[in-house]
Amino acid sequence: MNQRLVEVLVIGAGPSGCVSAAFLQGQGIQVQVVEKSIFPRFVIGESLLPRCMDHFEEVGLLEGLNAFGFEKKFGARFIKGDKICEFDFSKKHTKGWDWTWQVPRADFDKVLVDELIKKGVEVSFGHEVVDVVIDENGGSLTTIKDENGEPYQVQAKYIIDSSGYGRVLPRLLDLDKPSVLPSHSSIFTHVVDVNRPEGREGTLITFDVVDKEVWLWVIPFSNGRTSIGYVGPTEFLESFEGSNGEKLTQMLKLSNYYYERFKGVEFLFEPVLIKNYSKSVKKLYGKGFVLTGNSAEFLDPVFSSGVTFATESALLGAKLIAKALKGEAVDWEKEYSDYIREGVNVFSSYVNEWYSGNLQTLFFHEPENPEVKRQICSVLAGYVWDKTNPFVTKHNRLIRTVAHIIELEKQKSE
Ligand SMILES: Cc1cc2nc3c(=O)[nH]c(=O)nc-3n(C[C@H](O)[C@H](O)[C@H](O)COP(=O)(O)OP(=O)(O)OC[C@H]3O[C@@H](n4cnc5c(N)ncnc54)[C@H](O)[C@@H]3O)c2cc1C
Repeated sequence: MNQRLVEVLVIGAGPSGCVSAAFLQGQGIQVQVVEKSIFPRFVIGESLLPRCMDHFEEVGLLEGLNAFGFEKKFGARFIKGDKICEFDFSKKHTKGWDWTWQVPRADFDKVLVDELIKKGVEVSFGHEVVDVVIDENGGSLTTIKDENGEPYQVQAKYIIDSSGYGRVLPRLLDLDKPSVLPSHSSIFTHVVDVNRPEGREGTLITFDVVDKEVWLWVIPFSNGRTSIGYVGPTEFLESFEGSNGEKLTQMLKLSNYYYERFKGVEFLFEPVLIKNYSKSVKKLYGKGFVLTGNSAEFLDPVFSSGVTFATESALLGAKLIAKALKGEAVDWEKEYSDYIREGVNVFSSYVNEWYSGNLQTLFFHEPENPEVKRQICSVLAGYVWDKTNPFVTKHNRLIRTVAHIIELEKQKSE
């Protein structure tokens, strides 16, 4: 079998793989990316957070993205019955990007990988990692099947597993761990948005809460198409009968706000159902490898944190590998795992408090408290490591406490 030698092997050319490879290339480190699909390919995860703009900018991938003309996202709107809560990223506690994009990922990821290739990174499409052996010193031998099904092997000093839902190393090295989040599922498709209203309303990204645990996303793209998807407890989604298309058609009737806009629109592909999407792992790194992006952890789509975590972990993982390759000591537990888990824990609290209803109490309470809103807005923009933000540092208590106070006040006034 053919064997090749590289310093760093990156598995997967999604946002996570592209960001880590771009950084390493910039450092003069020899990197190879293997990607099992042929791009463009569909993947879900279309609403980005401002924080990920920092990552694309730092590794020189922003310019190409900017030139494409993706729909700009300046905030997020949440609707529940007749109540509306809108976050504006320019009104947030933490300094940083005030906008980002809402993107069809097939186009977005294609632009990213094209930019990466322009930088001189070798990306092998149609190449699937099928086996990985890592010895006690961290040296690895990866078996890959090329586009003709021919196997070859790559020896690498480090592997970055950015394989997303492929979860290559968690599967092969038995690193999977059940998520502690509730079992939720999602069903989604794209539509030609023929009834899209003119102006801002037509382009607003919106989360329509039809029940405490059930919500609809509406993500309009600049190409006139819109992504629509429902999220809810797995048994709730399973309670709808028929094909995925029939299920989603029935579910669309649950949204008072959007029913007319999407009534009878044609689905561009048979809706996809992903069951129990939350994933976790026993550890985020090991000798000779690091897990980044979805391969490491996926929480929930409600706050659109997936891609931002994918790029945050990719950039940090790549920086630490570069440091190690220079012969400097790296404390992976502290410098990688603890840092990533800190952010994951903040978002986990928000996900949990969303489905407990406490966060919804805060979002839809009137009159709103502008300072609280600015601080929560920072979290929703992905700035979850800002220690000056009490809604970051006290994430596990503050939402619950404020929701409790609101409920008490409501009871008193009644
Ligand atoms: C229902 C749902 C809705 C979501 N909505 C959002 C959202 O609005 N915003 C958001 O930020 N995130 C969202 N996410 C999460 C988002 O999909 C991911 O977080 C994001 O795509 C992760 O990027 P990544 O680079 O880690 O992985 P991916 O983008 O999945 O890329 C991984 C790549 O690895 C390749 N690969 C897999 N296996 C192999 C192999 N064996 N060999 C070689 N290559 C391989 C794949 O082909 C793929 O191209 C959502 C997730 C779900 C389930």
